[in-house]
Amino acid sequence: AVQTHGNVDFVVVGGGTAGCVLANRLSADPSKHVVMLEPGPSPVGSVKVAAPVALTKLFHSSWDWKFASDPTRATAGRAVHLARGRALGGSSAFNALLYHRGSAQDFDEWGLPGWSSEHWLAAFCAVERQRRPELAKSVYHGTDGPVSVEDARYENPLSSAFVQASLQAGMKENPDFNDWSTDQAGVGRFQLQTRRGRRAHAAATHLRPALRRRNLQVRSGCSVTRVILNESGEATGVEFVDKHGNKQIIDVSGGEVIMCAGAISTPHLLMLSGIGPRAELEKHGIPVLFDVPGVGANLADHPAVANGYSIRERMSITDEMFIAKGILSPARLLQWLVRGSGPLSTTGCDFGGFVRTDTSKALPDLQLRFVPGLGTSPDGVSSYRDIGRSGQLRSGVTFQSVGIRPQARGSIRLRSRDPFEPPLVEPGFASSSADVKTLREGIRLARKIASQPAFKDIIVTEEWPGAGLQTDEELDEYISRTLHSANAIAGSCKMGVPEDPMAVVDLELRVRGTTNLRVVDASVFPTMPGGQLGASTFALAERASSIILGGAETTTPSLGLA
Ligand code: FAD
Repeated sequence: AVQTHGNVDFVVVGGGTAGCVLANRLSADPSKHVVMLEPGPSPVGSVKVAAPVALTKLFHSSWDWKFASDPTRATAGRAVHLARGRALGGSSAFNALLYHRGSAQDFDEWGLPGWSSEHWLAAFCAVERQRRPELAKSVYHGTDGPVSVEDARYENPLSSAFVQASLQAGMKENPDFNDWSTDQAGVGRFQLQTRRGRRAHAAATHLRPALRRRNLQVRSGCSVTRVILNESGEATGVEFVDKHGNKQIIDVSGGEVIMCAGAISTPHLLMLSGIGPRAELEKHGIPVLFDVPGVGANLADHPAVANGYSIRERMSITDEMFIAKGILSPARLLQWLVRGSGPLSTTGCDFGGFVRTDTSKALPDLQLRFVPGLGTSPDGVSSYRDIGRSGQLRSGVTFQSVGIRPQARGSIRLRSRDPFEPPLVEPGFASSSADVKTLREGIRLARKIASQPAFKDIIVTEEWPGAGLQTDEELDEYISRTLHSANAIAGSCKMGVPEDPMAVVDLELRVRGTTNLRVVDASVFPTMPGGQLGASTFALAERASSIILGGAETTTPSLGLA
């Protein structure tokens, strides 16, 4: 028999980055009963999640949804691994921790009332607790929020050589990539969402402080299978399967459902609930409640490729971490446990830069991430997994080129009407010649940096792509053979004005045609703010909470931003 629960004000579907923020903010009022449903477990207490460097061990593990792209010719027939966090905290419990917001222009270009860069800045600052003293004084940073942002507490000499070589190659230094009064371009130190070298994920920053509230019920091990709606667009129930495999329904009549299942699972669940492109739903025999063509469309991700170099001396991050193959240095472990510093306190890519590969571009299209280590293959994701499994000890450096403002768009479609069968995900990788050009120029820029005096006595050989590949055609073939995801995945239920036929949610994040169903996760970004998306998702959920609670007009007018 199906168990039914009632008297709920808010059901939060998905306990990920956005879900944890909402669970906290919405349950602050003790009169509101909030239930959050999440398939994954709590990461609190897991060293693999807490230690940034252990990110390599999370790929392909039980913390990973292990999605894959639909193979296309543009990726040489390969299914590209698409990692997503399966835990309370979601992908914030699994990401590379880089703290980037893109540029003010990214948000202003949307032209969406209530969502200008000024509104976003207020939300970014409300979430942030900036630890670098010089930045804490800046109007572009927050100091009282729950998410700690700090510099990596480890610096490999190879990273210093990278910065020096980049300057020698003509790049300028950028001390703060999130200062919107200056150009995002330049090279330098990325900041991380960590607290004294430990991962600051949403289950720790937002959920843990709220767990004692009697009006908040967090249910892990529960997979939502659909939202039940009536013909007037009211969500009346949320159907889910609990950890024992039992089907249950939460009655939400009079309350609200907030979809926070992420940019792959949210459109999937909407389609299973009868909201999506008519033809797609009919193909799978799902009754169409609302024909919303934008559900699953507009999907974007960051494509990435890598240059790898062997080096003369054993000075990579893995050389510092392991005393023998797969055996972690006790001194390094102790350093992290006691002081929160050393190689275990970084995800390994905390130096890099932003670049316009073409001077006509208004904003940088390329992010270069420098890793003081060499993977097992040019596929960054496979390398992470292999290092995690074997603790390999090859010395070298990697430059990862990431297309941060991609042109390509793809889609999420149904494979079947079975909620436990993953959807078809096609991010459109390498389908845009502009995106391929960005990556190609990234490979060439990495080569230029690697050949500067600062690396002269360090770098030995270009392992990949390899000196033999030089022409556009050769590099493009390398790109299609080795392109991987830099884990952004967004846009599949975009926010927009009513006149936009492809908009899925309105400016208050309500799903078209419905009255009490919203989406608050990375699905709603119309385009990706140029940088990683974790910080923007925290800020989105912060602002969404204010909108839902009715106190949204928090701006920072003194800045005079557009
Ligand atoms: P998520 O945080 O993924 O949350 C979605 C939640 O919904 C998950 O907990 C999931 O288990 C749950 N869910 C799924 N299906 C269901 C269902 N049927 N029922 C109920 N719940 C469900 N961002 C950065 O800022 N910096 C980085 O360095 C960075 N690196 C990354 C590296 C990796 C490997 C990954 C995976 C991501 C990275 N990101 C990074 C991206 C960033 O983490 C995400 O953009 C952001 O966390 C997305 O938040 P979200 O709330 O939309 O989704």
